[in-house]
Amino acid sequence: MKSHARVVVIGGGAVGCSILYHLTEAGWTDAVLLERDELTAGSTWHAAGLLPLFNMSYSTGQMHRHSIDLYNRLAAEWDRDVGFRHVGNLRMARTRARMDEYETYASTADSLGIPYEWLTPGQLKDRFPLVNVEGLVGSLLHPTDGYINPADITMLFADAARKNGAVIYRQTDVSAITRTPGGEWLVQTPQGDITCDVVVSATGNHARRTAAMVGLSIPVIPVEHQYIVTDEIPEIVAWRAAGNPEHPVLRDADAQWYMREERGGLILGPYERNAPAWGVYGVPENFRADLLPADLDRLEWHIEEAFVRMPCFAEGGVKTVYNGPIAYTPDGNPLLGRAPGVPNFYFAEGFSFGITAAGGAGHYLTQIITAGEAEIDTLALDPRRFGPYATRPYAVKKNEEAYDHVFILHAPDEERPAARALRTMPSYDRLKARGAVFGQRFGWERANFYGPTPAEDPAFAEIPSFRRANWWPFVRAEAEAVRSNVGLIEASTFAKYRASGPGAAAWLDGLVANRLPQGIGRIQLTHACTAKGGVRSEFTILREAADSFYIVGAGAAESYDWDYLTRTRPTDGSVQLEKITNQIGVFVVAGPNARALLAGVTDRLDLGNKAFPWLTARDGTVGMAPVRLMRVNYVGELGWEIHHPIEYHNHIFDVLEEAGRPFGMKLVGIRAMNWLRLEKSYRGWGTELSKEVTAWESGLDRFIRLDKNTDFVGRAALTAQHAGGARAWQLVTLLIDGPDDADPWGVESIWADGAVIGRATGGGYSVHFGQQIAMAFVRPDHAAVGSRMAIKMLERLYPAEVAQDSPYDPDNARARVDA
Ligand SMILES: Cc1cc2nc3c(=O)[nH]c(=O)nc-3n(C[C@H](O)[C@H](O)[C@H](O)COP(=O)(O)OP(=O)(O)OC[C@H]3O[C@@H](n4cnc5c(N)ncnc54)[C@H](O)[C@@H]3O)c2cc1C
Repeated sequence: MKSHARVVVIGGGAVGCSILYHLTEAGWTDAVLLERDELTAGSTWHAAGLLPLFNMSYSTGQMHRHSIDLYNRLAAEWDRDVGFRHVGNLRMARTRARMDEYETYASTADSLGIPYEWLTPGQLKDRFPLVNVEGLVGSLLHPTDGYINPADITMLFADAARKNGAVIYRQTDVSAITRTPGGEWLVQTPQGDITCDVVVSATGNHARRTAAMVGLSIPVIPVEHQYIVTDEIPEIVAWRAAGNPEHPVLRDADAQWYMREERGGLILGPYERNAPAWGVYGVPENFRADLLPADLDRLEWHIEEAFVRMPCFAEGGVKTVYNGPIAYTPDGNPLLGRAPGVPNFYFAEGFSFGITAAGGAGHYLTQIITAGEAEIDTLALDPRRFGPYATRPYAVKKNEEAYDHVFILHAPDEERPAARALRTMPSYDRLKARGAVFGQRFGWERANFYGPTPAEDPAFAEIPSFRRANWWPFVRAEAEAVRSNVGLIEASTFAKYRASGPGAAAWLDGLVANRLPQGIGRIQLTHACTAKGGVRSEFTILREAADSFYIVGAGAAESYDWDYLTRTRPTDGSVQLEKITNQIGVFVVAGPNARALLAGVTDRLDLGNKAFPWLTARDGTVGMAPVRLMRVNYVGELGWEIHHPIEYHNHIFDVLEEAGRPFGMKLVGIRAMNWLRLEKSYRGWGTELSKEVTAWESGLDRFIRLDKNTDFVGRAALTAQHAGGARAWQLVTLLIDGPDDADPWGVESIWADGAVIGRATGGGYSVHFGQQIAMAFVRPDHAAVGSRMAIKMLERLYPAEVAQDSPYDPDNARARVDA
């Protein structure tokens, strides 16, 4: 066995073999793959092989599309039949809400260039008469996907990697991973040890065991999944014998199952309620290419529904039932990318659609490993999107829920119920009593909006929808209150850090594109870019002393940003870095009456422009509590963020609530904040700001200082683009004449002259303009103010016009207004 390699991939399933292949294609031919059993012996061997392109996420959609293209290309290059049957995937809808889901998705498919067709029940019946279309309202067909033989494509990856120089060792179980004194990895197996620079963990159901070898706990826990294979069915045999095409993979989403032909019979795969997590405390040592005992009782409802939709299914006797564990994560997306805090270690774990994802996962992870970043934004897949809250018991609940929700209606305002409430602010109960309806983000409960109080309407519950839902009037009232009066936002989930010490300023200056705040008490909005000029992080930085900086970042980015900050900080001890998110709470008071309200509770603190200008901070008090007031906000009004030691949180809330009463102050949630920030064209991390798009393309011109003295990450690329380099996109704000009952969500395609010219990143309703509003990336030749285009919502095109940046109060006069 080799004693050294540049990279070791652990795990010989579809994902590991794809990564090995892609690494060798990128020139990393000194590559080894270790498999404890045989290739494909994990989940890969018993997968049904379906390759559905349907996915509501832009990043995952890109990954899956890449796989399909790659499987076609590789099979042709190698002249090998990998069992790719291009039968298409057909999703049926029983309700108008389900059609809304498909139509919302279709707009994302347009942005991705994924072809699809609509079939009415009649058209479906004409094409596939064995399907009972009774009760259907429509269906969506992806003609270019289908299914594949998972083992064949995995073996093709393995062969191609070997041809490029990689070595694969089977029956070689990785038992430990340690560091050599020289900083390399030592991957240990009973057959011998290998030192290497880089390790990739692609170990399927064993992911937690592998992660534990490098001291990490990841929320990957498998869930049982079953499918039934029938004997031959006379109608299916006759249908094919008559020369008819194979049925597409059928999905009755409302009955939560998929079905495809298999050797004259059918496969039925239900996503049943209450499927249990498996291997929670580790996969048994003797579990190799094994299956779990079948549990047909769990499938009963789905089987009955399948009899109705495909009556001939009842004719086929059950030949085999496969029950295998599928690795799941709390949100159903895999963990693809850097392991937090562990250099040169990468995860490719938690794939629940790993056959569909393998090709794209190998492609993009290889870019991350060999070039530092992928060409697409992989944030939705990044292992650092979870934090320490994602414990094993949490993952059990959420992973079972993610499985259960595969076919649930994925309304963009969906908030899932499992593992709630977990992380709460001290004011949680107070807010709840005032009608707060919470969502969960990074484990935190955040008020999305304030509905009727439990006393007013104990039965009130949010009903998610693709259209304006029952929360809409409440959110509108909240947004109006901020524009015309004053609102109070609980915003403690911001991530907060402190960087101090003699080296802090120089280090931070090299990290962000803007100048650091110079004076003590000054605040600056800054962005950390990638080497290619993409935007990886957004930080509001307050200089609290000559060599101390208070840094506020996106709450959901905490693990991700913390990993970057700790990885890049100088190792000479000149910078101390603290994560202080949980110690500090934040309220925001914003609106034209914010100053008057705060004047009554801040103990004669001068809140006028001279003493307390925009983008500055002052220490003071609210009630009796010591606080730091920062004159910034994300809604574009006169306002202050009140940062405070968390133990004063409820006192401050009570004081503000009392002081707000005479003003008619309103509690305001995240959804109204989102609408308001769109009116100001404030970019959001993870939507308008992403590594896939450069800081110029995101329109961050005001925050990029190419001329500052310190070189910063991304400067060379941004300088080149500024000097005339091509721009793929330009971020714009669109005002839309949309329908009466729906708003954009930020997933829609943008059209001009019959072609897709962009995609929306954020959307909602503008209370100021009284119409829909969105932010979108469009081709630069469509980005001029006044350009007219259309946005596709629920399968219809609605006129949209590019507004000036910050269409509401473009001069920022309201935020800067004096006393
Ligand atoms: C019943 C069922 C049906 C499915 N149907 C589909 C489908 O239709 N479409 C789809 O896209 N997905 C489907 N899936 C999911 C799919 O099977 C998985 O997502 C995919 O196989 C994951 O591939 P992988 O390479 O990540 O993991 P695996 O295939 O599990 O491979 C991991 C490998 O790592 C090895 N390993 C683990 N630990 C070590 C170690 N310490 N040392 C060395 N080797 C190690 C294991 O032996 C294993 O071979 C299905 C799953 C099930 C259970």
